[in-house]
Amino acid sequence: MEGIIVHGGAWAIPDRMVEAHLEGCRAAAEEGGRILEGGGTAMDAVEAAVRVMEEDSTFDAGRGSFLNREGVIEMDAIIMDGSVLKAGSVAAVRNILHPVTLARKVMEHTDHVMLVGEGANIFAAEVGIEATPEEELLVGRELERWKVLRQDPKFRARVIFEPPRSTHSWDTPGDTVGAAALDMNGDMAAATSTGGTPKKRMGRVGDSPLVGAGAYADNLTGAVSATGWGEPIILSCLSRRVLEFIERGMAPSAAAGAALGEMLDRHEGRGGVILVAPDGTMTADFNTPRMAYAVWRPGGEGVMALIDEPTRPRLATR
Ligand code: ASP
Repeated sequence: MEGIIVHGGAWAIPDRMVEAHLEGCRAAAEEGGRILEGGGTAMDAVEAAVRVMEEDSTFDAGRGSFLNREGVIEMDAIIMDGSVLKAGSVAAVRNILHPVTLARKVMEHTDHVMLVGEGANIFAAEVGIEATPEEELLVGRELERWKVLRQDPKFRARVIFEPPRSTHSWDTPGDTVGAAALDMNGDMAAATSTGGTPKKRMGRVGDSPLVGAGAYADNLTGAVSATGWGEPIILSCLSRRVLEFIERGMAPSAAAGAALGEMLDRHEGRGGVILVAPDGTMTADFNTPRMAYAVWRPGGEGVMALIDEPTRPRLATR
């Protein structure tokens, strides 16, 4: 049975930001669901869902992205089609409202998998994607955050994803967005889009646009999108690792938990994954304090949007 699961980041989401995160995830899942219900493809559904969240300044993707150390927005995105095992991605790209759409164009209109920086922007112009002035991507909240963080030599991105501690007062989100879907034909796709981590170096590329780290989709095993502290996600190839555990016979929820557990043990990495399996099982799991995600399935069940603490059982729904 077709379905879509989306996420809006995994970190210590404070209570006052919960509603906006749930609303944004719900809207994205509904958009993807409309496409799937009308017989659309998983690729179209994940792209459309991610576009909704790129537009929503609640999230660190498209509009609302973080500024890097130099005060510039550089974004990363990926989309992968599990029916043909092809992916397109962009990294450190500027002035693009919908990096996920540019990533899809890379997959569909080039012989490459990934374009970065200026080359990605030149390609965007070639395929008719208009540049968006940085002022339209930048929101006041992020400018203010940048002003505070640039004065703070102690800031480290990893703390965003850890349980809040009294030793620091950073209230800095990690709101990368992503989606994984299964369509009526049994085809699967995954997509992830992000402004990265706050105060990252110019040219820093995170996990999100990397095949197997920020996302992976394979009709045989499942579609995954990841979020969290990017460097450990890269080192543990998190999205692909989840699918490896499934290939070894684990149930999707156990596989997600095992991959996250391994990342914590071996790389001190925190984050979250969403996953759809070929039988339509949808799972979200995380080892951060909270994760924002929403699920759509057909049949009037509508959309569920959740942020729960790791002590509660993870979602595993069919
Ligand atoms: N994984 C993203 C990055 O490191 C950040 C996030 O997921 O919040 O770029």
